[in-house]
Amino acid sequence: MDKKGFLIVISGFSGVGKGTVVKRLVEDYGYSLSISATTREPREGEVDGKDYYFKSVSDFQNLIDYNGFIEWAQYVDNYYGTPRKFVEDEMKLGHDVILEIEVQGAMHVKEQYPDALLIFVTAPNAEILKERLKGRGTDSEAVIAKRLRRAADEAEDIDVYDYVVVNDDLEECVKAVNSVIVANKCKKSNNLKFIEDIKQELKAQ
Ligand code: 5GP
Repeated sequence: MDKKGFLIVISGFSGVGKGTVVKRLVEDYGYSLSISATTREPREGEVDGKDYYFKSVSDFQNLIDYNGFIEWAQYVDNYYGTPRKFVEDEMKLGHDVILEIEVQGAMHVKEQYPDALLIFVTAPNAEILKERLKGRGTDSEAVIAKRLRRAADEAEDIDVYDYVVVNDDLEECVKAVNSVIVANKCKKSNNLKFIEDIKQELKAQ
């Protein structure tokens, strides 16, 4: 199989539990996880350099100016971006890299990396999504309302994604997302060089 690393974009409605899904994918299957930069305030328990690189708006702007991001986007009232260097280095090493980013970012990634695999994680229905957001207890009513409005907009963009996975049961969801990633690696179009090489090797026998 080809040795290059794949770029895997995982998006989903706010509160759908995609952070937990991604964490499990990293722990259970060893994917590399890109840590984003953001201008939002850290939430209780979040650690700089682990959950996000927390930046001032001017530092974030500098990174944009120096082409430091693969993509960046404004989400609710803050900026979020994917640092370029980590992703490019990991892919060169043949590691598959997960980006947990929102829809605008996913579109920008697909433009630059047409081979990127885009997976959308959704809740079983809107009511369950709202309950999960409230249950998280980290955001005010106003922010929850904004996130739900944003989710309605994001639902319009699901077409951009290659796969949709429902997060009803965490274990099932993690397995399903990994299966999608493995299947994508085996796709014929992602193994053209391998196929050519093995043809040549067999002819030379
Ligand atoms: P949160 O504030 O809940 O941590 O993240 C809000 C949204 O920003 C989530 O949908 C998350 O996936 C997205 N996000 C996190 N990092 C990035 C990034 O680097 N780029 C983009 N475009 N979105 C991001």
